[in-house]
Amino acid sequence: MTTTSHDYDLIVLGGGSGGLAAAFRAAQHGKRVAMLEPDELGGTCVNVGCVPKKAMWLAADLAGRIGLARTMGFDVPLRPVLSWKELIVHRQGYIENIHVSYRKRLDETGVVRVPRRGRLLDAHTVECSDGVRISGEHIVLATGAHPQRPDIPGADLGLVSDDFFNLCDAPAQVAIVGGGYIAVELAGLLQALGSRVTLLVRGGRLLDRFDGELAAQLADNLCHQGVRIQFDYRLRELQRDSEGDRVRVLGHDGPLDSVFDTVFFAIGRRGNSQDMGLEQVGVQIGERGEVVVDEWQTTSVPSVYALGDLAGKEGLTPVAIATARHLMDRLFGGKPQAKMDFNNIPSVVFSHPPLGKVGLGEEEARLQFDDVRVYHSNFRPMLQALADGTQRSMFKLVCVGPDERVVGVHLLGEAADEILQGFAVAVKMGATKAQFDATVAIHPTSAEEIVLM
Ligand code: FAD
Repeated sequence: MTTTSHDYDLIVLGGGSGGLAAAFRAAQHGKRVAMLEPDELGGTCVNVGCVPKKAMWLAADLAGRIGLARTMGFDVPLRPVLSWKELIVHRQGYIENIHVSYRKRLDETGVVRVPRRGRLLDAHTVECSDGVRISGEHIVLATGAHPQRPDIPGADLGLVSDDFFNLCDAPAQVAIVGGGYIAVELAGLLQALGSRVTLLVRGGRLLDRFDGELAAQLADNLCHQGVRIQFDYRLRELQRDSEGDRVRVLGHDGPLDSVFDTVFFAIGRRGNSQDMGLEQVGVQIGERGEVVVDEWQTTSVPSVYALGDLAGKEGLTPVAIATARHLMDRLFGGKPQAKMDFNNIPSVVFSHPPLGKVGLGEEEARLQFDDVRVYHSNFRPMLQALADGTQRSMFKLVCVGPDERVVGVHLLGEAADEILQGFAVAVKMGATKAQFDATVAIHPTSAEEIVLM
């Protein structure tokens, strides 16, 4: 039923994780929805983020397991050869199935898909890139973010994470500039899939949003896997080498010894807020290109909202989706108090083995509470022990107060990505260490260590 004089109840800019979730939920509430997306459906996550990255991680994980299988007695060659091209056919086939299912859902739910970029003309009007104008009672901006390049000479000689997904083979020598999760993930999987990787980190540690002790152990693991890490590295310039097809990396202390086939920048992302008419309409934009929103995702213009990576809080797909659903439930679903809770969001770095966290790290907890108790477990998982592997797991619980409420679970080890989800529920519910202790272990697993500390 038409409820306003506008063409649509909702116009969504961007058909990535957040935009699609908003469109589907609003349609579920019976609203008339148009969604603008000039590119492939699914945005970063499906096309150049979580999904293709996880496909490559799974292949890298298999490479490690093939090595372990050999030690355990399986008759596999010392250096099994991977056909990247075949792997990419499987990866892209999987992604195409996701595109198909989104297209089908858009048809089924009656969301009008406009395959164009959009820009705001006023608080209720969007101009599509073909000049067509549409109006909506509410407008959601979910245009995501893009990878940044440093402001140095020769920056155009480097690639960014989007370009990684165009590779058809492992470059022999790779430098990766950055110490965040995308840099670490690319380093681990390129090294496992055939490259020789050098990781150039500006600070003194990896992953400053994760627990310091586990991040240090992860750096050790990467070194064991053959990745060379340089901390406190100040990049100055990239240059073509004399033959013209490789790249020299120059820091403030001089050039690196190696010449690289490929250099990746993984130094952060900036909100896609440019050329969208936002300033003219009065939508406030922050320093990193993010759209400034309040706790209800409302921008400085009351009928315009922003969410997902564009809103610059937690750059994760499930966060974009959950935020979109809460917003739609608030606007159209009769839940005036619905809003995203940004506390205790679990997240995982797909390293080898993966690193996961939910809640506060030890350092953060000590800043916020006087009474902090930390429990550790450091062990060799069974498969590593059986196959004479060197990789160790490190788990950590951060507890506070007299009742030892568990405010942080930090896991570096095999299957940490899968184990963490259930413990994230426990942390969200405010479970105590005594309740963890009262839970019977599942034996023999790595996960049991969490209830046996
Ligand atoms: P996006 O998914 O980026 O969608 C934005 C869409 O807006 C795009 O499709 C774009 O084409 C469109 N658009 C842009 N401008 C306009 C315009 N003017 N008009 C209309 N449309 C426009 N998250 C996880 O949870 N787990 C992971 O393992 C993970 N791995 C990642 C790995 C990499 C390499 C990267 C880069 C990201 C990863 N992320 C991961 C983050 C995740 O991909 C993002 O948080 C998520 O995609 C954000 O969704 P979004 O809807 O905000 O934006």
